[in-house]
Order: sequence, then C-alpha cells, then structure tokens
Amino acid sequence: MVTSTQCLNKYGDPTLERNMVLWDVPGYLEIGVIPKKIYCNRDMMAPLAAAFQALITTGCVNELKTWDGCFNIRKKRGLTSMSLHSWGVAIDVNAAWNGLGKEPVLSKEFVKCFTDAGFEWGGTWSRKDGMHFQLAKI
Ligand SMILES: [Zn+2]
Repeated sequence: MVTSTQCLNKYGDPTLERNMVLWDVPGYLEIGVIPKKIYCNRDMMAPLAAAFQALITTGCVNELKTWDGCFNIRKKRGLTSMSLHSWGVAIDVNAAWNGLGKEPVLSKEFVKCFTDAGFEWGGTWSRKDGMHFQLAKI
C-alpha cells in the first residue's frame, strides 16, 4: 500500500499542491456523474481515464451514483497519518452506501474497472473503506 511518507517524499508538502492539475476530463468520458473537471494529482489522469473508460465499456458507469471527491488535505479519519487525498492520489465514490467500517456494496465488476487501471480499493482493508480508491503505486 502506498503510504503518506512515500507521498510526502515524492510530492512534497501537500499544502504546496505541487503536482496538482485541474484535469479537463475528455468529453467521451463525461458519462453519468463522471465530472467534467477533476482537481487531482497529475499521476491520476491516465489511471482515472482508463478506469472511466472501463466503467463505460462494461456498463458499470450506471453503478456510479455519486462522485465524492479527490483532493482534500486531511488526516485519515480517526488516525494521525495523512490521507492520500492530501496529495490528490485517491478518490471516493458512492460514499453514502460505502461508509468507513461498513460492508461495501460495490460490485466486483465495478471494483475491477479501477483495480485493472492501477488503483487499490479500500474495500479490502481490515478497516473497510468501500468508497475509496487510491493509486496502487506511485
Ligand atoms: Zn477516500
């Protein structure tokens, strides 16, 4: 799992927003609730484009109910280490149905669209975070 220390070493102080970009999502990927613009780490553009394309190709895009954000400088909930959202390398989706510590309700096919594109899913963690996907490598 990518750690906050690795992010700090690679991207620096998150408040400097050094590797952040306002990604203008290509029109052909703007299906359903996929945002038109995403403020994210530049390393997220290719994996997110691949995940969105897979969601559309498989029809899983219909399962994407809400886009719940990417960049957010904060600590992991209830912990002292920084969340990977602080460097814009994590996203949350369908948050209302996939709360922290709850049993996730995303389909295997939906999750695979992201894991095949280079993301790790929080739904497999001991403290389940089903809404959360983060880059598997940086
Ligand atoms: Zn998250």
